[in-house]
Amino acid sequence: MGDLNSVVIVGGSLAGHATAKALRQQGFAGRVTIVGAEDRRPYDRPPLSKDFLAGRTAVSDLTLEAEGEELGVDWILGVEATALDVASRTVTLSGTTSGRTRSIGADAIVIATGSHARRLTSDLRGLHTLRTLDDALALKADLLPGTTLAVIGAGFIGAEVASTAHSMGLQVSVIEAAATPLFRQLGEHLGSAVAGLHRANGVDLHLGIPVVGLRGQGRVTGVELADGRIIEADVVLAGIGADAAVGWLADSGLDLANGVVCDSQGATSAPGVYAVGDCSAWFDPSLGRANRIEHWTDSRDRPATAVRALLGGPIQAGGAGLRAPYFWSDQYGVKIQFAGHRLDDDEFVIEDGAAETANLLATWRRDGTVVAVLGMNQPRAFTRHRKALQLVPSK
Ligand code: FAD
Repeated sequence: MGDLNSVVIVGGSLAGHATAKALRQQGFAGRVTIVGAEDRRPYDRPPLSKDFLAGRTAVSDLTLEAEGEELGVDWILGVEATALDVASRTVTLSGTTSGRTRSIGADAIVIATGSHARRLTSDLRGLHTLRTLDDALALKADLLPGTTLAVIGAGFIGAEVASTAHSMGLQVSVIEAAATPLFRQLGEHLGSAVAGLHRANGVDLHLGIPVVGLRGQGRVTGVELADGRIIEADVVLAGIGADAAVGWLADSGLDLANGVVCDSQGATSAPGVYAVGDCSAWFDPSLGRANRIEHWTDSRDRPATAVRALLGGPIQAGGAGLRAPYFWSDQYGVKIQFAGHRLDDDEFVIEDGAAETANLLATWRRDGTVVAVLGMNQPRAFTRHRKALQLVPSK
């Protein structure tokens, strides 16, 4: 690439903001513009299913911007990017000015459009998803004392909302099609321990059974299961996963197989176009393929690597230096932390504690090397093991 004088970041949340910060920290003095579909400055999403939902955190505490932070960014908020021309690095924007389509061009584009929550097709009131602050405000307004909540899906968001609603005194049911909560992420043994957490807290858990429909007229009154049972509920949360928000890139020519496919520095196949955060799938040397990660820490940290590559700084080839993916989740007072990649035939080793007591440190080993680590209420030991974790290149 020639001289770099301007960067447009599409997506004004965690990864987009981290990109702007990294640009300034790494000495970029040119023009930085952030285009964001939400009409809000960057805010933090993890509290939306935890303390914010419970009323223990205010909207003002969610900001991702440090006090007095001045990045010299031009913000274009409440505006969606609708297309990208990679050859001219031009982003088309929603809305028009004087009847003409608006667009913005730059020397480099960073795509940071995150994920969209999957939705059930129904316009019943009382049915929610949770991705944005507006979603959280709407859900919170419905979680009134004495109401019953049914959560569809026992992934992270569903499990956390169930835990939070339970702490608020609501009666909660969780319905999950898989054999255990977090089955895909943790496997059956640990998923069963998480199921134990729900049950020990009095949450009504229905496992291995799909939802076939919703009940209600105007407002939801229940959830219908495949075996004909009806779970009555005043409020329903669909926690059924999220998809990369890349629909606007459909005609861009970029490889969009489960997120924007990138090399191990966030570069796409188009010169000067990078992708970071939930919407991106960076090449992972330990898997030998691109991998989309939907975790907070990776979305915050990887932009610095992408910016280094974008600014032409020294880079480590083949993904060397990439940290293993990491997530945490807070459920019923238990902090679950996981880092790395586990496969079903890796050796599972309990290093300390037991899953049943929600106090556990466990690792997965492949050919004797630790490839993943999990902690339940073991933050110090977990951090020690995580530091030693390596992304082992696939054979
Ligand atoms: P996002 O945060 O999704 O931001 C993308 C932004 O781009 C959004 O503002 C969106 O409106 C905007 N956008 C989308 N399309 C366009 C477009 N076409 N034009 C312009 N702007 C666009 N992770 C953990 O590791 N631990 C947790 O405990 C945890 N808890 C979570 C709880 C909740 C309720 C949620 C929703 C997520 C949680 N996560 C957690 C995941 C974490 O928040 C995400 O990994 C992180 O937000 C990803 O950041 P991002 O900037 O890539 O995407």
